[in-house]
Amino acid sequence: MAADKTLSFVIPVYNEEAAIGPFRAGMAQVLGQIEARGYGVELLFVDDGSTDATLDQLTAAVTQDPRIRVLEFSRNFGKEAALTAGLDAARGEALIPIDVDLQDPPQVILQLIDAWEQGYEVVVGHRTDRASDSLLKRASAGWFYRIVNAVADTPVPENVGDFRLIDRCVAEALKRLPERRRFMKGLFAWVGFRTAVVDYQRAPRIAGSTKFSGWKLWNLALEGITSFSTAPLRLWTYIGALVAVLAFFYALYIVFRVLWLGVDLPGYASLLVAVLFLGGIQLIGIGVLGEYLGRVYTE
Ligand code: UDP
Ligand code: MG
Repeated sequence: MAADKTLSFVIPVYNEEAAIGPFRAGMAQVLGQIEARGYGVELLFVDDGSTDATLDQLTAAVTQDPRIRVLEFSRNFGKEAALTAGLDAARGEALIPIDVDLQDPPQVILQLIDAWEQGYEVVVGHRTDRASDSLLKRASAGWFYRIVNAVADTPVPENVGDFRLIDRCVAEALKRLPERRRFMKGLFAWVGFRTAVVDYQRAPRIAGSTKFSGWKLWNLALEGITSFSTAPLRLWTYIGALVAVLAFFYALYIVFRVLWLGVDLPGYASLLVAVLFLGGIQLIGIGVLGEYLGRVYTE
């Protein structure tokens, strides 16, 4: 029924020599089921500058399995860049970004396809259970979504990762976004389209170790907040206004105290504190400005 339609899996890999074999084995059954439904399959691996045997394994896999294609990055550009390149290069009518560590269970793919067949253009995988993630990661993820959704103009759905199915038309819309610094979760949410949600349980990593250190996650979070909101800029206007109002009342207080009690001490302490405090505020404000200016420059 769908003989002419191809599903593209976009699989970013970074130093995943231990996971590629298990991934291919773990996917085999589901891929068979998908093909039995009449779809073609494309497995597009994006090697994000791996320094281990990942690329060798992939080039060997290409010769064994005609469904496999490989993109190779010249260095590690990060998962967001790998996803972007993969979505650009994928040829299918539906595109499915999926991690190579089988944390996104292959069986769920069939449900994604079901919803797509019903006419949804985006089918997101929603994690009902993050038990496989560390306590710290779960807590920080919770905070991240709370902050982003408080300040961002487009809400980013919580507990939804990159694992999803998107129709070709969504991929075309994503391609037209000019951002160089890409926070994919936010861009996915920003383009909109008819969206269905499929719940799933996130499995533990099958092999290898996580490629997202605390520092990388922190940077990703900053990227998410500054990519989708100018609230950090506006915040400083409010803080500045508040400080100015307080300073005004403090000045009034000093004037009345002098009228009442006369001059007591030369107020160098309060003066110094005020100067330092304002200096600090200004510096942070300039830093935030710089962040956005840098963004304008890169774009
Ligand atoms: N990944 C990548 N480039 C990077 C970091 C990660 O392509 O710089 C890939 C990685 O190989 C995996 C996916 O992104 O296929 C998710 O990474 P990981 O499982 O380490 O993240 P976690 O599940 O721990 O958040
Ligand atoms: Mg993982």
